[in-house]
Amino acid sequence: MIVVSRQHPISKRYVPADPGRNGLEKPAAKALARMVAAAKADGITVVVRSGYRSYAEQDAILKSKIVEYGDEKLARRYNAEPGKSEHQTGLAVDLWDGETWGTGFRRTAAGKWLWRHSRDFGFILRYPPGKEAITGYAYEPWHFRYIGTAHSLEFKANHTKTLEEYLGID
Ligand SMILES: [Zn+2]
Repeated sequence: MIVVSRQHPISKRYVPADPGRNGLEKPAAKALARMVAAAKADGITVVVRSGYRSYAEQDAILKSKIVEYGDEKLARRYNAEPGKSEHQTGLAVDLWDGETWGTGFRRTAAGKWLWRHSRDFGFILRYPPGKEAITGYAYEPWHFRYIGTAHSLEFKANHTKTLEEYLGID
């Protein structure tokens, strides 16, 4: 189980072993396609906003966010430094409905659907509410991490536990 966080950086040279759509590792890409199709069958639109991001892309994003926010501390709270973004693993994806971005996404039909069903497809909400001290990141209702159903279904209740707590690591 790969863990990438502020505490656990990844090599600058790390790239997904077998990338599929959106640069995601193929099992994650396939699970995502199944999840998006299942949402669609329920009348819910789920759109990929960001999949795999390279070290260089993450570096550029953080720099531009610091300028955009005009607040470096706030920008760093929401945006990882290069080498500390889970997106570099090809196992993390930002999802939205194509309309509502930000924490308000949780209250959209797509946000609610994903909250309820993502675990069934092997995805967990990586930065759940009230867990910033553990994950190092503020609540992000859009950021999902693929860990496979063998693990995700062990997360009994929806998004009350973090990956750190599940694995027993810092
Ligand atoms: Zn993300």
